Amino acid sequence: MTKPRQTVAIVGAGIGGLTAALAFARNGAEVFVLEQAPELKEVGAGIQITPNGARVLNALGLAEDCAAQSIVAQGVQPMDAITGRPVTCFDLSTKSPAYRFFHRASLLTVLAEAAKNAGVHISLGRRVSAVTADGTVKTDAGPLHADIVVGADGIHSVTRDLFGGPKAEFTGQVAWRDVIIVPDAPAVARIWMGPNRHVVTYPLKGGLMNVVAVQERSDWAAEGWDHMDNPVNLRSAFSDCAPDLQAILAKVKAPSLWGLFRHPVAPVWSKGHVVLLGDAAHPTLPFLAQGANLAIEDAFVLARCCADHSSVQSAFRHYQQLRRDRVIRAISAANANAKNYHLSGLKRSVAFAGLKTLGAVAPSAFVNRLGWLYDCDVTR
Ligand SMILES: Cc1cc2nc3c(=O)[nH]c(=O)nc-3n(C[C@H](O)[C@H](O)[C@H](O)COP(=O)(O)OP(=O)(O)OC[C@H]3O[C@@H](n4cnc5c(N)ncnc54)[C@H](O)[C@@H]3O)c2cc1C
Repeated sequence: MTKPRQTVAIVGAGIGGLTAALAFARNGAEVFVLEQAPELKEVGAGIQITPNGARVLNALGLAEDCAAQSIVAQGVQPMDAITGRPVTCFDLSTKSPAYRFFHRASLLTVLAEAAKNAGVHISLGRRVSAVTADGTVKTDAGPLHADIVVGADGIHSVTRDLFGGPKAEFTGQVAWRDVIIVPDAPAVARIWMGPNRHVVTYPLKGGLMNVVAVQERSDWAAEGWDHMDNPVNLRSAFSDCAPDLQAILAKVKAPSLWGLFRHPVAPVWSKGHVVLLGDAAHPTLPFLAQGANLAIEDAFVLARCCADHSSVQSAFRHYQQLRRDRVIRAISAANANAKNYHLSGLKRSVAFAGLKTLGAVAPSAFVNRLGWLYDCDVTR
């Protein structure tokens, strides 16, 4: 007997929600996406899509569009933020599929266009106030009912409220983000490491450069979790750093400041007809560039499980079983990087010497060490 067509309601049109929308639609489901923002754009930020995420986008038929909208990364270059000297450079040029730098708005556009062409209904300006386990989604414009409700509504997820548990907590780190004009920057991600802080820079299409600067702080007093900040605050946090880094930060005109929040990975990712993915299930610190990549992987695996299983409950169980350990491993690796980037004193000198030696004798060591992450193909 053929299965009746599944209806899927997705809360949130971020990278995870739109990838899920496309993956479910490609598997024959009728998909509705509800997004609170009035338009689909995330201004002022870049995103690194690593080979594991790229494999999913390629499997969804987006290889050409992604290639047209991004820059292929040639390497990752740890830098000493104080002296401005490269510590080493690790090669990324041989990765297949390529490691790519995107403007977030471009990636969202690629996903949204493909989803619409696959018949997905995207409603903007539709804030979801609650979901219930029977598959009801409550919005200002009235309720919607679906066989499957996917909570892809990010770190402050309303969907996750259904599961109880602690709210996201401040991690003691803040991040400024902005995009500046830097024509002809090399296609490498630079990690400028200083005591208790670091800056990541990489080029974007159109002569732009993405800048993310992270500083350790004891508190987060601002209302909400992101707001615009005065660039003077950013510059003063890095005022003892190398002139090259200060020249980059001098170009930052309108940074947004984010408190970095985290909550424990949800012990259970589904309840009744409702299931979580991406940051709603497992927010990760941005120190391994994996939050969006994991959300993309989740989306593909979830849609595949729902197509293959006869009941949503067994599909959800299988999905969580396939995803949870990998996600936890990636989150721990990102947490470890947070410490490694911010070392001071003797630990910092020893770590830099180790990186230098490693880069000299084995320039592929960085990517090889992350083979478990980058070489995984969830589409197989
Ligand atoms: C500074 C920084 C740099 C980063 N760099 C990288 C990187 O290079 N690579 C990488 O893989 N990851 C990176 N990340 C992490 C990445 O941004 C997130 O992990 C990723 O965006 C999560 O995707 P998501 O779809 O789960 O959630 P989100 O991107 O947060 O999307 C959630 C969507 O849901 C909508 N929404 C929320 N609540 C509701 C509601 N009640 N009703 C309707 N809609 C709602 C929101 O408006 C939003 O559009 C970075 C994060 C930060 C902070």
